[in-house]
Amino acid sequence: MIRAMARLRVRPGCESAVESAWRTAAGQLSRLAGSLRRELLLDANDPRSFVVVTEWADESALHDYENGPVAARFAEAIRPLRETSGAENYRVMRNPDGRGSKIFVDIELTVPADRLAEFERGYAEVAARMAEVPGYLREDLLREPGSDVHHIFAEWRGEAEFYRWIGNPAHAQEEAGPIAPFLLDIRRRLFHDVAHPESRRGPSTGKEIDVHTTTDVLIVGAGPTGLTAAVELARRGIECRVIEKQATPPAQADKAIGIHCRTMEIWADQGIVRDAMDGGIWLTGNMVFVNGVQTHRMSWELPELPYAHLGLPQYETERILTERLATLGVRPQRGAELIAFTEGDDGVLATVATGGGEETVRAKYLVGCDGAHSRVRELLGLTFSGGLGRFPQLFMLGDVDVDWDMPEGHLLRFMHETDGRMDGMLVCVPLRGESRYRIATLAPPRFFAETGGKDAPPGFSEELAEPTLADIQAAIDHLAPAGTRASNLRWSSVFRISHGIVDRYGAGRVFVAGDAAHLHPPAGGQGMNTGIQDAWNLAWKLALAVRGIAAPGLLDSYETERRPEGEEIVGRAVRMAFTDELDRNDLKRQFLQEMSMLLSYSDSPLVGESLSAPDALRAGPGPGDRAPDVGGLQRRGVGHPLRLHDLTRGTRHTLLVYADGSADEGTLAAVGKLCADVRRQTSGQIDVYLLLSPDARAPWLLDPPVVRDAGGEFRAAYGVAGTALYLVRPDGHVGFRSQPIDADALSKNLQLVFGGVR
Ligand SMILES: Cc1cc2nc3c(=O)[nH]c(=O)nc-3n(C[C@H](O)[C@H](O)[C@H](O)COP(=O)(O)OP(=O)(O)OC[C@H]3O[C@@H](n4cnc5c(N)ncnc54)[C@H](O)[C@@H]3O)c2cc1C
Repeated sequence: MIRAMARLRVRPGCESAVESAWRTAAGQLSRLAGSLRRELLLDANDPRSFVVVTEWADESALHDYENGPVAARFAEAIRPLRETSGAENYRVMRNPDGRGSKIFVDIELTVPADRLAEFERGYAEVAARMAEVPGYLREDLLREPGSDVHHIFAEWRGEAEFYRWIGNPAHAQEEAGPIAPFLLDIRRRLFHDVAHPESRRGPSTGKEIDVHTTTDVLIVGAGPTGLTAAVELARRGIECRVIEKQATPPAQADKAIGIHCRTMEIWADQGIVRDAMDGGIWLTGNMVFVNGVQTHRMSWELPELPYAHLGLPQYETERILTERLATLGVRPQRGAELIAFTEGDDGVLATVATGGGEETVRAKYLVGCDGAHSRVRELLGLTFSGGLGRFPQLFMLGDVDVDWDMPEGHLLRFMHETDGRMDGMLVCVPLRGESRYRIATLAPPRFFAETGGKDAPPGFSEELAEPTLADIQAAIDHLAPAGTRASNLRWSSVFRISHGIVDRYGAGRVFVAGDAAHLHPPAGGQGMNTGIQDAWNLAWKLALAVRGIAAPGLLDSYETERRPEGEEIVGRAVRMAFTDELDRNDLKRQFLQEMSMLLSYSDSPLVGESLSAPDALRAGPGPGDRAPDVGGLQRRGVGHPLRLHDLTRGTRHTLLVYADGSADEGTLAAVGKLCADVRRQTSGQIDVYLLLSPDARAPWLLDPPVVRDAGGEFRAAYGVAGTALYLVRPDGHVGFRSQPIDADALSKNLQLVFGGVR
């Protein structure tokens, strides 16, 4: 902890003006990263002498304050009120040896005995490299007696320095590289020094005695939504904990298969798209048959899409996400079920049942990714808008081989209609493996009889018997081409579809995402993809909130942006479930919509633009739209063209400033200042690039880096001319754009995300 004190003596009669200036400054100070305490003290022996006391988490927080606009504005406000210049009365005090905000980090890893020598060689090198890292103090390498489990127990001067290091992906190579193979599956825990109570951060609930563990974000559920949220938080160095009530991961191809193009882009950003492609198959098109006649066929291999439609069983998706999460030091705690939680002003206290009894977890935020029967949703008292819809029918699923001669990789939909009403439906989704399909169709009537006419609960039925190969063959005989045979049934189940969307996506510090927030029929394969996209939208906002640098309304925008999307998707999936409702006039548009490529947050209050002419930037993505990738960029020193997503990928905002040959020298020189301003305003959570057309002269600038739009692809896709800028959010959507550069409007937009001026 660092304390700064400034003594000032004011002119007679100016006392209340100083107090008023201080109140304004204190409000702004409280929003600065690393600001622990601020007070204005009055000298007991001199009613005209004040002492301004501020306390800071670390050197960089103090440095940012001293050099930032809040300090400058306060100094300016009190300059005419004070008697002396006062500069000589400014003192900074640090805790001896940096204690106070010190933290301890325990990395638990397994080193097999036969690789111990290899590990020790690498570790010696890592220890030497770590000594150079700012904020790192020391560490011990410990081994649990009689086991391969090791602990690297490190001391850091402060939490902020540790997170700065871990939040920079380069650390994995630059410092940890020599022992990287041993860090694929680790557990990371962070401890505060309890001898210094002022260093303890986090919510105070008055029930300290019960608290077993604390974390920044508690995620309930290790399905695709929860795992995505965890990966995104952990990538940003935010401590999170994932609890999952199932003791073992799923291993059957029973749920989602189709992976949308937009999800693939997200996975490219997360570094798992190659694993997904390696484990999946391409879904190359679809065919629809009504009463045995093919009514349409479409190829899904569109050249304009960055990725085709991938087929990957959900258990594989969960495996890949879990492995990615492990590389970030987080492992879901299995066999741990959320029972209850209470919410206070500064955090959430959750009760978790584990094999060893009940545990209490304190977190700053809680995210319920706990699926269709969400306990979080129930505890929050959220209700389904218009009630939870239920289809009366029971459905069955099976994983079988089919011997027909249908085109490879095609999703097949066979429907039967009587008097224009659909009364039979068979959907066959190709799986990896020769002739292997996941079949979905109506369950035979005997299953209805088995329920005794009672309303079967939504989801997979545990009570009803598993459908047999004969049941599946009967559906195929009824709907598929004559003579088709199914064989080799690996798995089957009966399920019931329900649909709906919750009225709110959260309350206070608790949010719901994925199936906990919206339920849909599997038609169109939307559920899992939508859940992943919920988490993708929420996590970057939560990370800023945990760091204390989010604007007050930022977390509310999760619901504002995601709920309309959920509503639209639920409605569409319900319409598609029992009709052959396809927009035949524009199948391509419908497919792009299903792949979430048209998803836009254009109605969000977070996004905006400033245009000098109504048709400026018309050809480019609008505010809230997905920022598309383009190629043909050149960066000095790089021997191959770059893509735009090489610049925007990662966990932060990206500001793309564009200029062509018509930009004057003064405008280009001002980009350096713009760059410094936005870095300050966003607490460094932004990357800035100057994109120049081939004919533009490169200004002499240390920052931002210059990239050439050598092929003119950026200009064409983003519709830029003269000077312009695009702000791309961490989720890959346009947050703001302007033509020409409008620094004031940009700053106002950034305030909606990062809050007041720093
Ligand atoms: C037959 C079928 C086919 C489908 N096909 C597709 C498709 O092709 N494409 C698509 O996008 N979607 C599809 N879906 C939907 C998709 O499976 C879901 O939308 C997806 O699983 C939602 O992910 P989630 O992480 O939100 O929830 P889930 O996957 O349900 O995960 C929730 C997790 O939370 C855990 N949990 C629950 N309560 C607690 C608690 N109290 N404490 C701790 N843990 C808890 C659960 O055990 C579970 O692991 C399909 C669904 C079905 C049933």
